Amino acid sequence: MDVSTWVYPLAIERTHTHHPFVTRGRVAAEMLTVRDLRVSYGGSVLALRSVTVEVSAGAAVAVLGSNGAGKTTLLRSVSGVLAEHGGAIDDGAIEFEGRSLIGRSAAAIVTTGVVQAPEGRRIFERLTVEENLRIGGFRLRSAFARTHIRKEVYDFFPVLYDRRGQRAGLLSGGQQQMLAIGRALMSSPRLLLLDEPSLGLAPQMIGQIELVIREINARGTAVVLVEQNAAMALAVATQAYVLATGTVRLSGPAAELAADDTVRDLYLGRDAESAVNRELAVTATRPPLGRWDR
Ligand code: ATP
Repeated sequence: MDVSTWVYPLAIERTHTHHPFVTRGRVAAEMLTVRDLRVSYGGSVLALRSVTVEVSAGAAVAVLGSNGAGKTTLLRSVSGVLAEHGGAIDDGAIEFEGRSLIGRSAAAIVTTGVVQAPEGRRIFERLTVEENLRIGGFRLRSAFARTHIRKEVYDFFPVLYDRRGQRAGLLSGGQQQMLAIGRALMSSPRLLLLDEPSLGLAPQMIGQIELVIREINARGTAVVLVEQNAAMALAVATQAYVLATGTVRLSGPAAELAADDTVRDLYLGRDAESAVNRELAVTATRPPLGRWDR
């Protein structure tokens, strides 16, 4: 008799009682698993054909790809806002800590710990900075927790503290992006989804956003970073996926993808490539994030 046929199920059974993420006899090692996801808009535009993406607890995962590849659709599917955009999941699975997210409302998904920073930094321009943050934290039950997290967000972004009484619409593009991320942090996420946080920002501001993402991740929050700025994303991430026309074209450790010829040709110009190499060289020695200039 082949011993493995009976030893293996016993091993699973034992893990079963101790492992936090267990579904129907399977041990899910990943925090987020998107499996064979197929998504269309309006019943006709096929945006994702069959996408499988895995995110371990505490990981930073980059999702790259050119316009229309399906990156935003992937995030919308996970955060539960797909229907708002006329999209629907046709097939596949999305599991967070072993539980399916499909069919749950966006609000219910936030309470599981998965939070997407507002798309296109959609903040409430007429409300003050502080009011925007309060909205982000309204799902937290305890007033103490809300105040505590808001203080943490202000520690992260001193400029938001300085501008807390100002209308959000008066902030610069980079500051609005900080507010969008700050608003997402107010829900105390364990998995933060970011859709092109560097879009339209000056290089120096991109550097600041990059530091913020690193620090959020270093404090234990897993991050999925959708970016067209491949240099920044690959420098921040440990794992990366490249989407092309609704499928995963490449995946692997970010450092390996940064060295891959296809990725270099398609997504990294020569300047960006040397920027990635510089980043990879200094990452190990970089000091922890301090408060930055206002
Ligand atoms: P970009 O970087 O340009 O935002 P992306 O990789 O994020 O690209 P998606 O926005 O996910 O790609 O788009 C994937 C496909 O789905 C594209 O063909 C796009 O035109 C289509 N699509 C996206 N949103 C909608 C929508 N609300 N209605 C119909 N089609 C959509």
